Order: sequence, then C-alpha cells, then structure tokens
Amino acid sequence: MKNRNLVLLVCLTLLSGGLITACKSKTVSDKPKIFVTIEPLRYFAEQIAGHYFDIESMVPKGNNPETYDPTPRQLMALADSKAYLSIGNLGFEKQWIPKLKENASNVKFCDTSLGINYLESSHQHENKDDYDPHIWTTPSNAAIIVKNISNLFCELDPQHQEEYIKNQIQLLTMIQQTDAEIRGIVSDGIQETFAIYHPSLTYFAHDYGIEQLCIEDNGKEPSPVHLKELINQCRSEQVKVVFVQQEFNTHNAEIIANELKAKLVTINPLNYNWQEEIIKIARNLKK
Ligand SMILES: [Zn+2]
Repeated sequence: MKNRNLVLLVCLTLLSGGLITACKSKTVSDKPKIFVTIEPLRYFAEQIAGHYFDIESMVPKGNNPETYDPTPRQLMALADSKAYLSIGNLGFEKQWIPKLKENASNVKFCDTSLGINYLESSHQHENKDDYDPHIWTTPSNAAIIVKNISNLFCELDPQHQEEYIKNQIQLLTMIQQTDAEIRGIVSDGIQETFAIYHPSLTYFAHDYGIEQLCIEDNGKEPSPVHLKELINQCRSEQVKVVFVQQEFNTHNAEIIANELKAKLVTINPLNYNWQEEIIKIARNLKK
C-alpha cells in the first residue's frame, strides 16, 4: 500500500514537472515582438496579428498608465522588438516615449490615435491644449485605432496583408455591433449624467450625448471644497451612478455615492476584453 502511494506520488511529480516544462516552453516565443502601451491595445493588435507576432503590454494588468515605469527587462525586450504601438497621450507615454525612442532607434513607433478627433481633457486646467488621453473607451475611436493597427501590420509584414485586412474587417464588425448595442441602451433610457473618479469616459460620454462629472481635481485627490461643489452638482443633475477604477483610491467616490444614495460601480477601462467592458459600462447607466 505504502509502495503504491509512493509510486503514485512519483508519477504525479513527474507529470506536474512535465506540465510545468511544457507551459514554460510555450511562453518562450520566436515570433517577432510588438509592444503596446495598454491591455485594450494588446487585444486589438492580437485580434489582427496575434498569429504572427508576440504582443506585450508595456503597462501590465493592474498598473496605472498615468504613472507606470518600465522594468529593465521590458527596456531590453523593446530594443529587440519590431514596433511600439502607443495610444497617444497617456501619462506613461508622455514621460517615457521620447526616452524609449532614443534607446530603441530601430523600433518603429506608431501612434494609434492618428486621425482621432481629440477632446479637451477635463482634468488638465493648467494645460489647455493637452487633449484627453482615454481615446479607446468608445467604439467610434476604437474603429480608427484598429485601422491604424492594421495599416502598421500590413506595412511590417506585407506577405500576410490579406489576413490582416480580413481580421480588421471582423474587428470593425464587432465594434459596430458594440455601438449598436449601446445605442439601443441609450434609446431605452440612460442616465444623462454620471460621476467618475478618474475621467476615463470623456469620449464615450461625448459620443452618446451624456455628461461625465469628474471627482478627481486636476489629476489629484479632490479638496473638501471641490467635493462639496461636486456633490451639489451631482444632486441637481440627479446622478445615480458613480464609477471608480481599481487603480485609484475609491474613498472620495464612496463618500459621494453615500451622500447621493447612488450606485458605486467599479469599472476597468484597461480591461483586455474591450467589448465586455464597454458594454458593462453602458448597461450600468441604464435607467
Ligand atoms: Zn487616465
């Protein structure tokens, strides 16, 4: 009996060892590498070219793209990669892209926001020409981003151009369906105003004719005065939904939600699954 157990244990150990080796070897890829800034960009890039390229987010899941610093391993991997896809104007990008360009002169840098109609940032009072960086949180912009990504892959790897264009068309169909679903929710009745800690839904609110009230004050924790004014404004506009993001402190948003007896909802605009997140946001605004 003892012996049988021992044999079983040895078998299990060997088996799990084998599995671990298999998993490890699977993550080592000899495909050419592409870096992107955030997870939703990785999603779009993988849908278009994941088969031929290995795509990595510079700002990994759970990190704040306004403040993230790349690791030495990432900097080395970037130097060996083919291209870097940026979203345009995130804090991380403003801080790091000029340095990354200097250190990786053979890497092609592509700004996927090219062609987007930028909106003024609601939390950058000091610098009026600085546009809002959260361009990807609405279908109309996602379609432009996807076209820019597809163009880049066609340029990098013309041999598989047909496939990239086919994948682009599929993605654009999905984006269009997402927009149709949101428009359905809007026409059934949607909250006209919502509050949010960090203003990541500026373009979404603009596209669907609703108003975003930002709790953060100029990128910082709100002062008691700002908080009081905001609560009054939320009250007069009958705000019923307060969004928070996991990367930010939720304390002030909780105070506001309690005062207003509003629903506090955690969203993740950096979700890899772009469609799931955008539809979740719209559903939470249903009347
Ligand atoms: Zn942000």
